[in-house]
Amino acid sequence: MPDGERFVRVVACSYCMDLDGHPDLKLGLTVGDSIARLEATATGFDFVEFGLSEAAEIPEAIDDERLRTVCDELDVEIDVHLPFKQDVATPVPEINEAIVAHQRRLLSWAGDLGARKAVLHATVRNPSDTSLRPTFATQLADIVEAGREFGVEVVVENVGHQKHGLPLSVLGDIATEVDAPVCFDVGHAYMEDGNDGVERFLRGYSELVSHLHVHDARSRGDTHLPVGAGEIEFDLLAEHLGSFDGTVAIEVFTDDVDLLRDTATRVANVFDEPA
Ligand SMILES: [Zn+2]
Repeated sequence: MPDGERFVRVVACSYCMDLDGHPDLKLGLTVGDSIARLEATATGFDFVEFGLSEAAEIPEAIDDERLRTVCDELDVEIDVHLPFKQDVATPVPEINEAIVAHQRRLLSWAGDLGARKAVLHATVRNPSDTSLRPTFATQLADIVEAGREFGVEVVVENVGHQKHGLPLSVLGDIATEVDAPVCFDVGHAYMEDGNDGVERFLRGYSELVSHLHVHDARSRGDTHLPVGAGEIEFDLLAEHLGSFDGTVAIEVFTDDVDLLRDTATRVANVFDEPA
């Protein structure tokens, strides 16, 4: 067993020993759409989050057999990230129907692959058009339901700092209304509204959070940094999700395995030593 593998596992393990009866913290890694990157970086993590990218030929373009084999060899579970350029809701009913059909096809593939969760960005064509919000709620409910049918938990992710992303509180309210689990991206929340935004969402909607995306960020615009390199107060996670039994995906944009493992260790320590 390589040293790095033991390192991460020991940290995760000491976490559950310290908090008797507490579920193990599941630490994973986002790997984009590259099986080679997955192979090179995911050793020692509990799971990977594989991105379906944007190509129209997805998922046919993915060598699922190799993907499954590599995950089995590394002993990692798999989650997926659905395409993010396609909005969830538009003002056009025919387009909305097609969006659900598209996501349904991908979720069926994800279910066959054995994926547990699928991340969906909370986007609409025009976030300031409030009349689109009920449409988004219906679309989200339909996509979550399609996921359930194929045994995949659809988790909806906050991207309120992006042009088409719904604001944090709007997403929280709609996810509550349609009973949709959330992928809370701590870095995105910070980019949208600073540490106050992180805290406000966790205070209001922590019950919905099933999956976390963790990376550091700085108010001047740097994002997906290793934890510790930015300005996010990660103790807020332990404060509000103290007994978190969901999954945590490290989403740092580097292939440097030491940096990835350092972030994983820091995240494990945050939950190990709640503020
Ligand atoms: Zn994310």
